[in-house]
Amino acid sequence: MKTLKTRLLKRLRNDFQLSIVSLMGLFGVIGIAPYAVYRLLTGNYLVGIADTIIVLSTLAAVTYAWVKRDTTTPGIYLAAVFSVGATLIAINLGVNGLFWIYPLILFNFFMVPPGKALLATLLVLVSLVTHALVFPGSVFESNYQMVSFLVTSMMASTLSFIFAYRTGVQRDQLQVMASQDPLTGARNRRAMNEELKIAVASHRRHKHSYGVLIMDLDHFKQVNDRCGHHAGDQVLIAFVEIMQRVSRSEDRLFRFGGEEFLLLLPNTDLSGLHSVAQNLLTRVSAELYSPVGPVTVSIGGAVLQSGEHWESWMQRADTCLYEAKSAGRNRAIIHPGEPARTHKD
Ligand code: GH3
Ligand code: MG
Ligand code: MG
Repeated sequence: MKTLKTRLLKRLRNDFQLSIVSLMGLFGVIGIAPYAVYRLLTGNYLVGIADTIIVLSTLAAVTYAWVKRDTTTPGIYLAAVFSVGATLIAINLGVNGLFWIYPLILFNFFMVPPGKALLATLLVLVSLVTHALVFPGSVFESNYQMVSFLVTSMMASTLSFIFAYRTGVQRDQLQVMASQDPLTGARNRRAMNEELKIAVASHRRHKHSYGVLIMDLDHFKQVNDRCGHHAGDQVLIAFVEIMQRVSRSEDRLFRFGGEEFLLLLPNTDLSGLHSVAQNLLTRVSAELYSPVGPVTVSIGGAVLQSGEHWESWMQRADTCLYEAKSAGRNRAIIHPGEPARTHKD
């Protein structure tokens, strides 16, 4: 029981959208269920049924988000249901119902991307105003009240839009900063650990094959010592540019140490890994230069095996890299898989 509670709390902490869907679900149910009962008991069936549909839809959407691990679909669904529900309630109750439009605006901006939230809010406002113009006195008590409502709700929407948009841009920037190496633009170690775990899960579920190549520049310390740290940095940048030119778009390059890189190759078997490694060696030795001459790379590789943990997969590739260094550098050694044998290119 304790572990279930811990797991649920962990999911809420790690998944912001899920926590928002759940919180909004809680607000939706606790805030609206009493109104649903009250309206049904007092004979206002239209609002009572709208409230009930909102409460049930909220419960269904929150359950879907938890079970399917998808918050996008329930987010859009809830924003749509709440927008239609709030519009019907405002039309039916007049001014008393209008108060619900303000939390609805915030709700929409929490649940769906800013553009969609703005569109939903505008549709609600246009529907209310159209209804009020066709049936004067049905929603607003005076034109002055209608204009005041439109101005304040538009202000609330615009400010929410700016806030949501800015937060989205900052979140994207943070995501890039958290997963990218600032010098070379390759993905960083944190991203590498995540993607290796995803690869292992995908291999287990769908039997997709994956290879890794661990690469370490040869005698790189000498480049720094002879030409300075800045020249060393330029070599690292040039190395990543070569790797990006040579590798396929689905391959992922990570810089996980100073001059140590890992290339993750989906849909790659042992012979594929051999030929990629050989191609990389050739291209790097032909194209990578420091101010004092060509720079080479040593490579160790391994193909993911069934049931293998990502750390052991990396360890096998790393052992091969170590062997490639000991054997004289500027070469690739790929682990042949179990039973352990070593094969040198
Ligand atoms: P080996 O062939 O055995 O790999 O020799 P090496 O000199 O490349 O190996 P070693 O690990 O001893 O040296 C790695 C060097 O990489 C040490 C450090 O000065 C340099 N280095 C690490 N990170 C950076 C960086 O961000 N910029 C620069 N310019 N140099 C770095
Ligand atoms: Mg090194
Ligand atoms: Mg090195």
